[in-house]
Amino acid sequence: MKLRTVFWIAAVVLVIGASSIPAAEGSLPIRGFAIGAPSPERVNDFIDFIEDELVPNNVNTLVLRVDFKYRYKSHPELRDEDALSKADVRKIVKACRKGGIRVIPQINLLGHQSWQSELGKLLEVYPDFDETPWIEIPETYQWPNADGLYCKSYCPLHPDVHAVVFALVDELVKVFDADAFHAGMDEVFHIGMDRCPRCRGRDRAELFAGEVTRIRNHLARSGVELWIWGDRLLDGTTTGIGEWEASMNSTHRAIDLVPKDVVINDWHYERADPTAPYFAAKGFTVVTCPWKLGEVAVTQIEDMMRFRRSSTPEMRERFAGAMQTIWSPAGDFLDQYFGRVPPVENEYGGDPVECARTVLEEFEKLDE
Ligand SMILES: [Zn+2]
Repeated sequence: MKLRTVFWIAAVVLVIGASSIPAAEGSLPIRGFAIGAPSPERVNDFIDFIEDELVPNNVNTLVLRVDFKYRYKSHPELRDEDALSKADVRKIVKACRKGGIRVIPQINLLGHQSWQSELGKLLEVYPDFDETPWIEIPETYQWPNADGLYCKSYCPLHPDVHAVVFALVDELVKVFDADAFHAGMDEVFHIGMDRCPRCRGRDRAELFAGEVTRIRNHLARSGVELWIWGDRLLDGTTTGIGEWEASMNSTHRAIDLVPKDVVINDWHYERADPTAPYFAAKGFTVVTCPWKLGEVAVTQIEDMMRFRRSSTPEMRERFAGAMQTIWSPAGDFLDQYFGRVPPVENEYGGDPVECARTVLEEFEKLDE
């Protein structure tokens, strides 16, 4: 081969190689949005939001918190009021599929079995599953309180709890035709309690990891991926992140005990705490999650892009993306997002609706 030919081949290879770099740098594989399932009468409105806002802004993943708002056939006794029908769900799934969005249904497992002065459906119907049956739900909820009650948990060692919750999980996965399921598992304050006859004296990290692994193994049998929030796997004391976005109840060592194919949603709402590399270095796929501050969200997204650029090939794909979270009811969010009601002050500060707009704008700039 002549030297000139070698030169031209080399030049073409270089040009092709170089032109592929910006595309790789400009993409995040997961561009997510997490929100509560709409009530049945808001399904059409919600589908308009999917088609007019999520799809055009490059969102490709929708985590939908369903909990007990589905008309479960396996356990009709666990249906909340205002539950979605199968036809409602199929409409949402169809709109998402048409727009190239992967839908991941969520039921809060382990923790979040109550909210302030309201007991969740699972413990209302099955009080035996309560990790802390001696703690009563107060009429007027206040934090902090003497019981350390944020949300109730179910006992992960109760012999009957998994038959019930896995029936719900299986039903949702089926109706959503999902290849991933979100089990929540954030902010579990009550775990391994001294007065629980099954859990007392047990290591809390092992209890938490045991529950994650059990759910993961159940899903893995049908090829379904498990997603969870990441806070219980971070050490709140050493990092200074504290008891909400990280753990102060000794669960953080579970990070070395749970299977690496669990996808971690690393949520930070006040600062862009750079904990994603910690999860990635442990072998987990990680998605960064903002909520209420646009500038924090932009930093989180930029960080993920930078981590992808500056990492080894082994680490790069684990920095999978970002997901905006919305914690107000879907109908309220839609009314605020579309300006049908005046802006509502968020009691925790910041502006989730504005943050959602910012994140969607950031996603829109990314390559598909
Ligand atoms: Zn227990």
